[in-house]
Amino acid sequence: MKVTSLEILRCDAGWRNYHFLKLSTDDGIVGWSEYDEGFGSPGVSAVIERLAGRVVGQDVFDHERIFAELYCFTRPAAGGVVAEGLGAIENALLDTKAKALGVPCYVLLGGKVRDRVRVYWSHCATWRINHPSLYQPAITSLDGVKGLGAEVRERGFTALKTNIFLYEGGKPRGWPGFGVPFLPELNVDKHVLRNLRTHLAAMREGAGPDIDLLLDLNFNAKTEGYIKILKEITDFDMFWVEIDSYNPAALGYIRRQSPHPISSCETLLGLREFLPYFREQAMDVAIIDAVWNGVWQAMKIAARRRGVRGQHRAAQFLRPSRHDDECAFCRRRTESPDHGGRYRSSAVGRGSVHRGAAIRERPSGRPRYAGLGNRPDRGGDPRASPKGARGLAALPAVLSSSRSALTGLARPTFGI
Ligand SMILES: [Mg+2]
Repeated sequence: MKVTSLEILRCDAGWRNYHFLKLSTDDGIVGWSEYDEGFGSPGVSAVIERLAGRVVGQDVFDHERIFAELYCFTRPAAGGVVAEGLGAIENALLDTKAKALGVPCYVLLGGKVRDRVRVYWSHCATWRINHPSLYQPAITSLDGVKGLGAEVRERGFTALKTNIFLYEGGKPRGWPGFGVPFLPELNVDKHVLRNLRTHLAAMREGAGPDIDLLLDLNFNAKTEGYIKILKEITDFDMFWVEIDSYNPAALGYIRRQSPHPISSCETLLGLREFLPYFREQAMDVAIIDAVWNGVWQAMKIAARRRGVRGQHRAAQFLRPSRHDDECAFCRRRTESPDHGGRYRSSAVGRGSVHRGAAIRERPSGRPRYAGLGNRPDRGGDPRASPKGARGLAALPAVLSSSRSALTGLARPTFGI
């Protein structure tokens, strides 16, 4: 079964675009993957377009060979947007292969491991503060933060993840770190520390004592700043603090002083980038992004993690993909109890690549767990379906280009 074309599709996700790769074959089977140019990675589409000629004509079943060839071709510029382009191509190939075999994609990866996974409410308060016109009700005060904490609990979640906010005149605004506003020094002063405490306290007050609290610091500090923050919030009961750092030794230094578990590595690409962090025992929870790395490659990384896990803990969470967080279309779809949106791997602990459960920034009210049950469109037993579930659309524990989400995404919504 030969690849005949690779086609890029884009849609308006409200405050940024989402990107999809459509892979067509000579026997009519079409595979999909989702990728992202909105998180520091402009140009992934151009990479895919430049590499498409090396994929067309190749056998879909040879996805590892194709990946190896593309890696060889791009080796001098390995990593970054190039790696993310390769990941998108690999995932579309896997989706196609699974559909051709008539199996869920997890069958390609060793079979389903579990039926249910715990989820956390990601970007909790963040989107309602930063994008009030898109994520409502908008949050404009500490009372709003407390209210959302209560909403998390009332909707049956058991955990939430939030970020740093500054309160000026009682109104929150996001702490920078991604160039807007331009504060490249990333100094963490007393004002930031005080406001973070205020924010976390409001979250805790609203959510109550039984909700696990997670904090994502992203790239918003440097080594000494992260340590300052961790010391400042020592008395908070944190499930984990997520830190992005390109220095494994520095992250290990931070972790050894941290009163809280550290998660990290979300932005790393390829086993070579992960290994120094594993050797350094730099984090408690390794986050391997299967959308950016490609699921097949992510499994290899996770396997190495398993080999050095030592005292590392497993992450039992999923978080929704950015697509589900933000896509205006999918927000509409959440009104349907049958929503089959896509979810990206958030947490990969003990070498397991988790993927596929269900809850988003604007959840539809599903409680504690997103039950995968035996629904083929959520990864259940494909034999339960008259037609059989195929490809990534049916997969619970790996990645996903949820076919249901894509199918429902009306064509006019796309713009090429
Ligand atoms: Mg993160």
